[in-house]
Amino acid sequence: MVLGATGSIGTQALEVADRLGLDVGGIAARRISPQLVDLAERYPQAAVVAVDHPAGHDLPAWFGVRLATGVEALDAMAATPGAVVVNGVVGCAGLRPSLAALAAGNRLALANKESLVAGGGLVLEAARAGGGAIVPVDSEHSAIEQCLVGEPGGIARLILTASGGPLRGRSAAEMEAVTVEEALAHPTWDMGPRITVDSATMMNKALEVVEAHHLFGVGYPAIDVIIHPQSVIHSMVEFVDGSVKAQMGEPDMRVPIQYAITGARRRPGTTPPLDLSGRALSFETPDREAFPCLELGYEAGRRGGIAPAVLNAADEVAVAAFLEGRIGFAGIARLVGSVLERTPDRVPGSVADVLDADGEARRLAAELLPT
Ligand code: NAD
Ligand code: MG
Repeated sequence: MVLGATGSIGTQALEVADRLGLDVGGIAARRISPQLVDLAERYPQAAVVAVDHPAGHDLPAWFGVRLATGVEALDAMAATPGAVVVNGVVGCAGLRPSLAALAAGNRLALANKESLVAGGGLVLEAARAGGGAIVPVDSEHSAIEQCLVGEPGGIARLILTASGGPLRGRSAAEMEAVTVEEALAHPTWDMGPRITVDSATMMNKALEVVEAHHLFGVGYPAIDVIIHPQSVIHSMVEFVDGSVKAQMGEPDMRVPIQYAITGARRRPGTTPPLDLSGRALSFETPDREAFPCLELGYEAGRRGGIAPAVLNAADEVAVAAFLEGRIGFAGIARLVGSVLERTPDRVPGSVADVLDADGEARRLAAELLPT
């Protein structure tokens, strides 16, 4: 099952599935688009979900019984017995299908980091209760997962690498004038628009710190971020004896997607072999003044409860406002910070609580936007 099948992760997941000779049992996207129609034709056996399409309204006739609409249909697809579910949905909308997949005992290849950021406790509980497995697709977390194979414990520190994005090296003052074009020009990864802007602000890394905390059960003081512009080392684990393991490779999301599907029973891939000869790998400490979103992520993570969901929701509104030219680049962190500051802490007990917190944060962020 590929949820978010028309997106950057989704299309690469389909490519990996084709190459591995796997059956694609279902594809889902937000709405019916020419691209989804193409995919439905390419995978005639697959069930199709278009979440936003109003049921019964001018559906393409040939879709026939294969097409379902609404969030319940997305949940049902994720819960298909025995399925491997790639969740490449963007945003908080990915939480429900993650929970549904895990509750059904399925293997969840999780790219949708918002599931863990917004609903961390609930996602872990669903995995425990349903017996499903969470396997990270995010390259940093896949790297850590791979470093932890054969390691029953003894973790001292997780070291997440960050490319630094297109704005690495700029000062806090220079951030005010960053244009949409500059923010979208990612040097090493080709991704969807939100995560690309999040890489420029380093909010993406902030979300990944929270994601790592939940996935690996490591406390925030033991999660570090280091800038590594070449994106060859995808992350590292330091152990209590001082040994450090790193996972490397050319930056290519198809590698962590494939690993999430195959696990340690590796299969051949298509990424060119890593040639390190004559190549320098460099590392820098992140500039927390120029990239205040990073600290906001740690703050939200330490507060716990709904704070990371609020961080994520406020950021989504802020990024959209930036892309529409309504706020400047440095305004993204300011807006997210203001929303976090104004939101009292609360522990969510259900998906509805998480989605409420998400909705409230969006409303507050929208109110705080300049008119
Ligand atoms: P994208 O914007 O390219 O694609 C998003 C997909 O989700 C589309 O198929 C869209 O139709 C679907 N979608 C959007 N809203 C939906 C909704 N409400 N219900 C159901 N489907 C919906 O995004 P992307 O870059 O592929 O990122 C997907 C997720 O993977 C994000 O959480 C992102 O942080 C994460 N991720 C992406 C990359 C990458 O390289 N692109 C790397 C690491 C993690
Ligand atoms: Mg990542």
